[in-house]
Amino acid sequence: MKTTAIYCLILFSSSSIITANKPFDEFRDYENNTPAKVKEFYRLNHIHQTLDFVLAKKKEYCNLNKLCMGIWQAMDILDKIIDESDPDLSLPQSIHAFQTAEKLREDGHPRWLILTGFIHDLGKVLTIFGEPQWAIVGDTFPVGCAYSDKIIFSHYFSQNPDMKNPLFQTQYGIYESHCGLDNVHMSWGHDEYLYRVVKNYLPEEALYIIRYHSFYAAHKEGAYTYLMDEYDASMIKWLQLFSNYDLYSKSEDSINTAQLMPYYKELVSEFFPETLQW
Ligand code: FE
Ligand code: FE
Repeated sequence: MKTTAIYCLILFSSSSIITANKPFDEFRDYENNTPAKVKEFYRLNHIHQTLDFVLAKKKEYCNLNKLCMGIWQAMDILDKIIDESDPDLSLPQSIHAFQTAEKLREDGHPRWLILTGFIHDLGKVLTIFGEPQWAIVGDTFPVGCAYSDKIIFSHYFSQNPDMKNPLFQTQYGIYESHCGLDNVHMSWGHDEYLYRVVKNYLPEEALYIIRYHSFYAAHKEGAYTYLMDEYDASMIKWLQLFSNYDLYSKSEDSINTAQLMPYYKELVSEFFPETLQW
């Protein structure tokens, strides 16, 4: 039975209040009631996301020569995507876009942040190129260095071929102490891809959120600080703020997207041209 209670959390300042339709500790529950498909998702993700795989995907996608389409065409694609890694939402990703953005809007956040909420998962259009979900969604993590045990289902890494490369299993691996996340290869997925697509159009805080919003081991668990530089240290607060909206806005309740459309049409056209390179 669906709970009707409203749960609140005070964030950063008294003006910023998050509400959710179930208790906060029931979100991202990977211990008690995790669906089998979510576990299988992470088993595949942790086995296949190697440094070589990430480098190959960057080469394949980051020159953005696949197609030319607008934000709304991408949003139409999200209408057909259900995120298999998500234990908290079984509605299409386009609904998640509206839910996240509307929570930010309710709390009076700036337009650039509402827009970030609206588009942050558009990188999931990778599905139209035939990519499996383990190469698109789920939490992200650095590759080419030791895996933190703060990554969910980290025991699945035992089957990752990079475990056999001693260099990749040292603390810093192929990186240097406090080299900055910009110099670190993250597991491949929708975060990095969308960051590349929208790089020229949004403020740096928005780009940082888009690029690292799935890096829960860092922004939720505090892992990998030894790879971060001062810039990362100054930006991580945005990931933490954003994740509260990304996560606690999730609800199986319907949302009247037609009614909201005029606001979001105007917001999207304020920042983006008609089409973008993907
Ligand atoms: Fe995401
Ligand atoms: Fe999201």
